[in-house]
Parts: sequence; C-alpha cells; structure tokens
Amino acid sequence: MMPETVRKDVVVSLQYKLWLDDGELVEETLADEPLVYLHGHDNIIPGLERALEGMRVGESKKVVVEPEDAYGEYDPEDVEKVSRAALPPELKPTVGMVLTIVDDRGNMYDAVLTDMDEETITLDFNHPMAGERLTFEVTITGLRAASAEELEHGHVHGPHSH
Ligand code: ZN
Repeated sequence: MMPETVRKDVVVSLQYKLWLDDGELVEETLADEPLVYLHGHDNIIPGLERALEGMRVGESKKVVVEPEDAYGEYDPEDVEKVSRAALPPELKPTVGMVLTIVDDRGNMYDAVLTDMDEETITLDFNHPMAGERLTFEVTITGLRAASAEELEHGHVHGPHSH
C-alpha cells in the first residue's frame, strides 16, 4: 500500500530551496532530481525531518530551522593549525579549499582551509552551515513504502547504490 503521509519508514521525494538568514540561496533541487530519503532514520537534519512529518504529496511548506536542529552551533574550538610539512607534497594549499582529513582510526572529516602562513595552515572542522538558521521551502513530490533492505540499511537505495 502506498503511504499517504510522511511518517517513519516511508521513502519521501521532495523539492526544496534553502536560504541562509542573509538571504543567500545556498541549495536548490533540480526539477528532475528531487531529494529522496528514508524518513525517521536521521538521514536529514532533525528540524526539517520533524517539520515534514504528516505532509502529503503536492503539499508545500516554509520551514525555519534553528542551528541546534540543523548543523549545530559554530564551535571556535573546532579549528586547528597544522604544519604544512604534514601535507602531501603535491598539494598546493589555497584559502577556501576543502580537505578531507583521515585520523588514525580511519575516520574521515572535511575541513575548510581558512588561513595559512609559511609554516602552518588553519583548518576549520565546523560544518560550513554550523551556526546558521536555515529557511527551507519544501514541496513533497512522492511517497512510497521502503523495501525490507532499505529499512535494514536505514537509507534509500537508488538504481546505482548498494
Ligand atoms: Zn544500503
């Protein structure tokens, strides 16, 4: 049976636009490429997931999400200076570039290079939208039941995913 509303274990397709408080449009889905996710499994930010609960296909809504329900507050402690000698020799660092750092346990983190001098680079590990209040305009474009495998994995399987 096709689900009629957004609820746990339903695969949701939606179109959205996302603005920051300063009015900058930072994300927008394309007409033929909606966001598709499994509801109720922490696949999207919690503030948006809560607001979508109960919506129907064709329904639109404006949703404002505070930082604590989005990408968290900006943490000034989450910024580190690293010796340039630790970088791979072929890397030419520039301010604004995003580096993927692997720690000794194999965890990967994205960091933005925010500053550099002759000896060090400064890496900011905060999410680029940390500390931001987010304003979404969303339209639900599709709902379907999840497969048993999707429920087991906790995410949607597209034509190319595992
Ligand atoms: Zn999977």
